[in-house]
Amino acid sequence: MPYDFSNKVAVVTGGSRGIGLAVAQQLVAYGAKVCINYNVSQERADQAVNQIREAGGEAIAVQADVSEQRQARELIQQAEQQLGPVDFLVNNAGIFDVAAHDEFDEQMWHRTMKINVDGVFYCSWAVKDGMVARGYGRIVNIASIAGLEAKPYAIAYATSKAAVVGFTRSLGQALAADNVRVNAVAPGLIDTEILDGFDQTQKDHLINITPSKRIGQAGEVANMVSFLLSDESDFTVGQTMVLSGGRVNLP
Ligand code: NAP
Repeated sequence: MPYDFSNKVAVVTGGSRGIGLAVAQQLVAYGAKVCINYNVSQERADQAVNQIREAGGEAIAVQADVSEQRQARELIQQAEQQLGPVDFLVNNAGIFDVAAHDEFDEQMWHRTMKINVDGVFYCSWAVKDGMVARGYGRIVNIASIAGLEAKPYAIAYATSKAAVVGFTRSLGQALAADNVRVNAVAPGLIDTEILDGFDQTQKDHLINITPSKRIGQAGEVANMVSFLLSDESDFTVGQTMVLSGGRVNLP
C-alpha cells in the first residue's frame, strides 16, 4: 500500500461513477472510510457501496445536489454523523457541456457555474472550519485542463474550471498555516461517461494532439488525488497538478 489512510474519513462528491468512483475505491483500498456522494445515480452509488462493504471496506452513499448550499452542508453532516470528522474532501462533482458561443445561453452558464464552482465552494465551506479547528485537513478539487487554456466550444465549462484553479490557489494559501492543504488536479481527456459528449472523430483528434497518444484512465487521476491527500505531498499547497499526457504544460 503506497499510503496508509486508515482512520481517515473521506467525502468524494460525484463518487457514483467515473473519476469520483475510481477515487473512492482507491481511498477505501488504502484504508479510508468513504462517503460517496451522488445526485441522481442512486443505484450506482448503492452498488459501489455494496461492493466496498463486501470487500471489507467502510462506505456510505449520501444523496445531495452540491450546487445547493443546504444540501452540501447536510452531506457533510451525514458523513460526520455516520463516519466521523471529515479529513479528506474531494470536490469531484461536475458537469461538462459542449456548445459553441451561439449555442449556449444564460441557463447553461448558470447551471455550469452552480455545480462546478458553487458546489466546490459550498462543500469546502462545510468542512473547512472543522478542519481548521482540528488542525488537519486535505481538500483536492478536480479542475480540468480546460481551466488552463482556451476552449472556444466549452466557454462556460472552461471558465468554471479556471475558477476552481483560482479558488484552490487562494484557499490553499489561506489555510496552509492551519495544516489544511488545498490542491487541485487538472486532467486532460479521461475515459468516463463525460466523453459521451464527443463523437469518434473528435475523440480521434484529441488523441492525436496528445503527445502520449492515448486517453487517460480514471485510476490515474485517483493516483494523483491520493498523492495530494497523503503526507508525501506535504509541501504542496494551492497547486494544480496537470495530467494530460503532455497536452498542456504549465509555464
Ligand atoms: P461523469 O462520469 O459525468 O461523472 C460526474 C459525476 O458528478 C457523477 O458522479 C455525478 O453524479 C456528479 N454530479 C453531477 N452534478 C452533480 C450535483 N449537482 N451534485 C452532486 N453530484 C453531481 O464525469 P467524470 O468524467 O468522472 O468527471 C468528474 C470530474 O472530473 C468533473 O468535475 C469533470 O469536470 C472533471 N474532468 C473530467 C475529465 C474527463 O475527460 N473525464 C477531464 C477533466 C476534468 P450523478 O450521476 O448522481 O448526478
